[in-house]
Formats: sequence, C-alpha cells, structure tokens
Amino acid sequence: MTMAMRRCLLEPPPEVWPAAERLLEAVRLHNANDMSGAAECFREADLPIIGVWFKKVVGPYDASLHGPHPEALDPPRLPMHERRRPRMVSSAGRRDILARDGYHCRFCGMPVIPKDTIKAIASVYPKDAPWTDNAAEQHRFFQAANLQFDHIIPHARGGESSVGNMVVTCAVCNYGRMSNTLEESFLIDPRAFPVQRSSWDGLQCFVPQP
Ligand SMILES: [Zn+2]
Repeated sequence: MTMAMRRCLLEPPPEVWPAAERLLEAVRLHNANDMSGAAECFREADLPIIGVWFKKVVGPYDASLHGPHPEALDPPRLPMHERRRPRMVSSAGRRDILARDGYHCRFCGMPVIPKDTIKAIASVYPKDAPWTDNAAEQHRFFQAANLQFDHIIPHARGGESSVGNMVVTCAVCNYGRMSNTLEESFLIDPRAFPVQRSSWDGLQCFVPQP
C-alpha cells in the first residue's frame, strides 16, 4: 500500500473558519463588557463537526489516514533514558517559534490558541467555553486548536527540542502523528512552505478583566 505525500493528515472542516470569526467576536464583546453576547459566541464556535475531525485523526490507528505501518523504524525509537533533554523547548525558544510561525498550525493551517489563553477564557466562561481534564467536556474548537510545539524529528526518535526542529501545530496534527516521522506519515515538511499570516492572533486580545 502506498500513499501520496500531503500537507496534513486530514484537513480541518471548513466550518473552523467561521467558528474562528465567532471566537474573535466573542473576545471583542467580552472586552467591551458584553458577557452574555460573548458567551453566545463562544457556544456558537463549539461545533460537533470539529469534534468529529479531532476524534478521527487522534482516535484509533487507521492505515488509510495515518499511513501504512513501516517495516522498520528509521531512526529507531529510543528508550526513555536515551532521549534528548530537556523534552520541552525553553521559554525563549517558544517565543522565537511563535514569532516565526504565528498562530496557525504549520501542517493544516488550523487557527491555534495557547493553552494559557484557553484556560483564562474557560475560567471566566466555564459553561460556554469549558476546559477541564476530561476531553469529553472540552470546548471542541479549543480542543483542536490547543497550541502545540511539535518536534519535526520526533523526540522519541532522537529529535532535539530546538527552534529549528520544532513548529507550531494544532492538537489534531500533533497527537495524530504520534511519534512517527514525516516520511512514515507521508507528510511534506511544513518548513518548505511559507508561514500563513492572517488577522488571527490566537485570541491574545482577550483581556481577563476588561
Ligand atoms: Zn493542524
């Protein structure tokens, strides 16, 4: 079984774009002290179809989506004690990656949101923009958009936590690829493409107490 090279495992549903607009509107209303208007916009962006996309890519292994199992792993999977440390990139490194990549997934283009921002919004709107440790209760846009610093050469395969080896991705693309290499997942290196620029700011405009 062979597979064509592609930009991402599965493209986000087109509904994510108007949903992102609803979130920007929610934050605008919140910052203008219209909390009920903001709450409604947060709810409108919590779309079941985004949850379906998340579950399909992050869920059980599917060779037609994730790629056929390779015969041998190259480079091999390293035991824990042989993996490079630290696993997390430094805070200065994260700033550099964000300045370079902005707030879109480098694979699929999904608008992403830093987890600190998701949590800040959820603490003000626990019912309309929920975020708990239980995945089934998470706002579905936030669940997919949860910003990741993803290793291009996976950490488990010897990749280092450097600005050069890491890109901003959405949770769907990061969790969905697991610790497979780009080649094993039939993915084109996203660093070969220009960074997507837009007015989406990862909801950094959210002011917890306007
Ligand atoms: Zn993505």
